[in-house]
Amino acid sequence: MLYHSTRNKSLSVPSAQAIAQGIAADGGLFVPESIPEMTAADFNALKNLPYAERAARIFKLYLTDFTDEELRECTKNAYESGNFETPNVQEITKLADGTMLLELWHGPTCAFKDMALQILPHFLTKSIKKSGIEREVVILTATSGDTGKAALAGFQDVEGTKIMVFYPEDGVSSMQKRQMQTQEGENVRVCAVKGNFDDCQNGVKAIFTDADMQAALAANNMQFSSANSINWGRLVPQIVYYVSAYITMLEQGILKDGERFNLTVPTGNFGNILAAWYAKQMGVPIQHLVCASNVNNVLTEFIETGVYDRNRTFHATVSPSMDILISSNLERLLYHMTHEDDALIQEWFGKLKTDGKYEIPTEIAHRIQAEFSGSCWDDDATKDMIGKVFSENGYLSDTHTAVGICAARDYQENASEKLPMLVASTANPYKFGNAVLEAIDSVPADIDEYAILDLLNEKSKMPIPAALASLKTKPVRFSDSVEKSEMPAYVKAKLGIA
Ligand SMILES: *Cc1c(COP(=O)(O)O)cnc(C)c1O
Repeated sequence: MLYHSTRNKSLSVPSAQAIAQGIAADGGLFVPESIPEMTAADFNALKNLPYAERAARIFKLYLTDFTDEELRECTKNAYESGNFETPNVQEITKLADGTMLLELWHGPTCAFKDMALQILPHFLTKSIKKSGIEREVVILTATSGDTGKAALAGFQDVEGTKIMVFYPEDGVSSMQKRQMQTQEGENVRVCAVKGNFDDCQNGVKAIFTDADMQAALAANNMQFSSANSINWGRLVPQIVYYVSAYITMLEQGILKDGERFNLTVPTGNFGNILAAWYAKQMGVPIQHLVCASNVNNVLTEFIETGVYDRNRTFHATVSPSMDILISSNLERLLYHMTHEDDALIQEWFGKLKTDGKYEIPTEIAHRIQAEFSGSCWDDDATKDMIGKVFSENGYLSDTHTAVGICAARDYQENASEKLPMLVASTANPYKFGNAVLEAIDSVPADIDEYAILDLLNEKSKMPIPAALASLKTKPVRFSDSVEKSEMPAYVKAKLGIA
């Protein structure tokens, strides 16, 4: 299996190179030349296997330049070394109204990003060897809060790598900031940017594709790669958990062979929902995909109208990991939806850069609408839903998941065909404790984030994740903050190549 750039399909590289590079030199994203299909027999053959084994076999369909042994080593290290608090790695919880939640946050940093970022460093170190690269790899990451911590945890002290994370200074929860600022490891660095997530992401993308910067790195025997979902190595583990979730639902008798279901995904950069779409193309019987957003509703509008317009006010919400106006992975979906028209993709994403806006033809918009709906919800609706789910089930959901539940319930109420609904549950509620507590009770004045954990625990009896409780005693190691224009200089200075 080879990978093309969304902006130039004559470029073909093996998966190891796509992963090692992160992004194509032309600024396009790597996409598989074809999407492998699985039959009912293939799904059944993966029943009753541990997650790591199931994952290794699904990875094999996409990462064909890796050996079975290499893939098993990667999945064992990621999913069977005690990093996940549940042996199943992912769990499915059913709410009283029938909605099912796919809990993807049982990893070390309490968000779904761990599902991919616990394995990406293993893929990456193997990819580097395979590609014959003898340079140090510098992972440059923009984060809306969760990717940063998950990437730091994954790459901490991984030989041959350095990692640098940029987050929006006022755009993450206090717990997310704590998690990053206290990160341990010799090869890590964290820096705040005076701007929003899009500023961080644009800054990082610009540094990646800047020829001078690349030359400076090469002269110092270094090269960049990415831990963002623009890296194929991030997406493929996410495809795996959707395939695996379907098999688990078969095992548990929730679904019969081939029985269709709907899926809602709380969305920001469009990575998680795109992975679900790939799983659907592979044969997982997902009928409809609901793309849930907060008031940063650029995707809802795009799905409904075919116009992508980032020229709008950016809102900071209680679901900060979805406060994004440029959803990078949409580029991959559009590449597939246009039947791989790389010239069109170049044109649209050029316009996005210069005008902040592009419009797709009605015919292609209809193709997207046949598989996706958009749905957006504000902070009040989000908190109301957390309260409702808690009173009906005694179950705490985080703010992002709650946006998803709002969208899922709304879709189900209006759908002509009532199919089972699965919602991707993307974070542990304790990670966004302030908003979650506000949703189920009042928050006492002057209370710190750790006291909030205790209060939430008293009310819900849900265990506090050790990874969050232990932050209290960890020293802050990183408090740098830069203007977005200073990002390139900061990178050079901290790498010692200025
Ligand atoms: C990253 C994140 C999202 C958005 O996922 P995308 O892949 O960027 O669409 C949603 N919820 C949480 C908790 C996240 O960390």
